[in-house]
Amino acid sequence: MSSPSSALRIVMKFGGTSVADLDRIRAVAERVRIERDKGHQVAVVVSAMAGVTNRMVGYCHSLDPVADPREYDAVVASGEQVTSGLTAIALQKLGVAARSWQGWQIPLRTDDAHGKARIDAVEGAALIAAMEAGEVPVIAGFQGIAPDGRISTLGRGGSDTSAVAVAAAVRADRCDIYTDVDGIYTTDPRIVKKARKLERVAFEEMLELASVGAKVLQTRSVGLALKEKVRVRVLSSFEPETERCGSLVVDEDEIMENEVVTGIAYSTDEAKISIRDIPDRPGIAAAIFTPLARAHVNVDMIVQSTGADGMTNLTFTVGKADRARALDVLEACREDISYGELQTADDVVKISVVGIGMRSHTGIASTMFQTLADRGINVQVISTSEIKISVLIDSEYTELAMRALHTAYGLDAG
Ligand code: ADP
Ligand code: ASP
Ligand code: MG
Repeated sequence: MSSPSSALRIVMKFGGTSVADLDRIRAVAERVRIERDKGHQVAVVVSAMAGVTNRMVGYCHSLDPVADPREYDAVVASGEQVTSGLTAIALQKLGVAARSWQGWQIPLRTDDAHGKARIDAVEGAALIAAMEAGEVPVIAGFQGIAPDGRISTLGRGGSDTSAVAVAAAVRADRCDIYTDVDGIYTTDPRIVKKARKLERVAFEEMLELASVGAKVLQTRSVGLALKEKVRVRVLSSFEPETERCGSLVVDEDEIMENEVVTGIAYSTDEAKISIRDIPDRPGIAAAIFTPLARAHVNVDMIVQSTGADGMTNLTFTVGKADRARALDVLEACREDISYGELQTADDVVKISVVGIGMRSHTGIASTMFQTLADRGINVQVISTSEIKISVLIDSEYTELAMRALHTAYGLDAG
């Protein structure tokens, strides 16, 4: 045991593949025991076993594609309940005092947006008391309790956010996110073999990378870590811990030298909708996008072509899950707007390059367009922000485009 002065309070979060079966759960328990034996206070947050949440979501949607969100939450939150109990048992078996905590027991309070609830407050007192008494709380990630007293879930990948919220509530020194890769890479290492591990990533860049598809951290977890000043580390649960393992999400000024482009992400979650032959007059964009907003359809990229003969075309993207609702809304205002054809496509991917260095460098977009053009890849829609450029292309070219851009921006591992 180390001296009490070096003792830390740590939150350890384990994702689905890290708790995929009983052997892995035993390995997780062993890892927790090691941290505990160093004298640290540890709280654990677990995901459902790999594949379980997908199966639950499938059950709900097979019965009803627009299932009651409260019942959906009751079903999909169950995976984490199982893992928290199993992990507590595995810890007890190693002689470590442990108990499971469901969201409502903490309580972790959320708003009423069932299926994608936001955390309002986490009560840390009971968890701190447990840790101070030498027990390891094993918390079911992804779930909380809504104002109506019913179970809520935080959206896919939400256990990351549970972990950061718990870390903030118990004033943890560190929040370690254990997953199936050994850190945050320049891009998804499963798609681009030459992806390079980043030792440090700025909050703002990670926020942008997560929001455009890098699912290694849920976007909200990064925003919360930034707001609550939680130190987040991403590391592998499959590899032994070393001095330089994992990646840290840090303030911008903790990074010595900024690359112009830090990372590349892709998202296949969007569908493209095109509206042809719209009368080109003031107020038309509002007439289209206001009803979509009212129906809670999130519109992402937008392009409007230059008008000709008093007509124009509009193309935009929405989440695939919202596509059916978006089309219903647009059909409903067809007469008001009197547009021509409505087209939709699913076979698209959004590829985004992200980097704080973009603020002060030019030519980032032109490199992207030229690289894609050299490979005969057509850019369908473009959108930009201060530190990001996204393009929508045919999904057939996902891997080709990712690899080519990774090389073009000098990100390949040496
Ligand atoms: P967990 O179940 O542990 O939460 P996830 O599947 O949600 O794990 O996230 C880890 C995965 O994120 C990796 O297996 C990897 O394929 C993917 N990923 C996407 N972009 C990145 C990136 N930039 N760095 C690391 N992993 C990434
Ligand atoms: N089990 C949930 C999901 O698969 C939450 C998580 O793993 O973070 O989305
Ligand atoms: Mg995840």
